[in-house]
Amino acid sequence: RQEQFRALRSVEPRTKDGQRISLMMNAGLLVDLPQLADSGAEGIGLFRTELQFMIASTMPKAEEQELFYRNVLKQAAGRVVTFRTLDIGGDKVVPYFRGHEEENPALGWRAIRLSLDRPGLLRTQLRAMLKAAAGLELKLMVPMVTEVSEIAAVRELLQKEVQHLSRFGHGLPRKLQFGAMLEVPALLWQLDELMAAVDFVSVGSNDLFQFSMAVDRGNARVSDRFDPLGKPFLRILRDIVRAGERNNTQVTLCGELAGKPISAMALFGIGFRAVSMSPASIGPVKAMLLGLDASALAKVMNELLDDTKSTASMRELLAHFAETH
Ligand code: PEP
Ligand code: MG
Repeated sequence: RQEQFRALRSVEPRTKDGQRISLMMNAGLLVDLPQLADSGAEGIGLFRTELQFMIASTMPKAEEQELFYRNVLKQAAGRVVTFRTLDIGGDKVVPYFRGHEEENPALGWRAIRLSLDRPGLLRTQLRAMLKAAAGLELKLMVPMVTEVSEIAAVRELLQKEVQHLSRFGHGLPRKLQFGAMLEVPALLWQLDELMAAVDFVSVGSNDLFQFSMAVDRGNARVSDRFDPLGKPFLRILRDIVRAGERNNTQVTLCGELAGKPISAMALFGIGFRAVSMSPASIGPVKAMLLGLDASALAKVMNELLDDTKSTASMRELLAHFAETH
């Protein structure tokens, strides 16, 4: 099978009914970069910048961050890299950066919250990214956004850094794309405002599932109780896709859900056209989608999602569809 997936590397990811799907990979360290070519991923849909911080024994200096991003972009050799700003706190522990003990770290001082309270840290990172991407395309996004105002605050800091760099004669990225991760349910009631404020949205399904079902993502005893392919979560995801279409905003998904063929199939069925996953999943997901009739699947999935009387299992419907098509 490994050989079979390898042979698919250069095959364009297009469903049987002609839908072009963008398959990207998740990464976080330089050792991940060779996987771009090996897996045939179109680019990096999620680059977890906190990994550089998590494996260091002291806070990486501005120059170290810049060099790191420069190397990542160099090795990506023109394929798009989506850098996520620091997502520390919660399940992502940085030993030398300790906040106060928290009773509920997942709901605590983390990610963009921490970044906005320590703007020096965020500005250093933004500057390092801008400098590393001089003359190139820079795509960046912020994690754990809860209110659209937080995006505006980050944009303002980003703008300051751009001005600062141009005042001192530094080169700037040729193109800048600014996005938000959608992982906190509160954003579901701000979708139009959110999409007006960003260039793209990336759904962090690991956290969005954790927060919408109120189950700790690291605690299988509770997280396995509910099915991400059940109606509630798929309806949430479909609402996001529809908002993207309505607002003409690119929507991608970069959680674990994208990496399993059956769940990736469900995502394509509800309209996702860009996903990011671990590199090892690209081959199996591509093999699946090449044989997929996405519009036929959309039809049966929407029927069940719109049916408020039926308690039929979406997972069974998906398994049945996969077997019979
Ligand atoms: C997610 O939450 O789905 C995600 C992609 O980010 P992380 O797993 O790093 O929290
Ligand atoms: Mg997350």
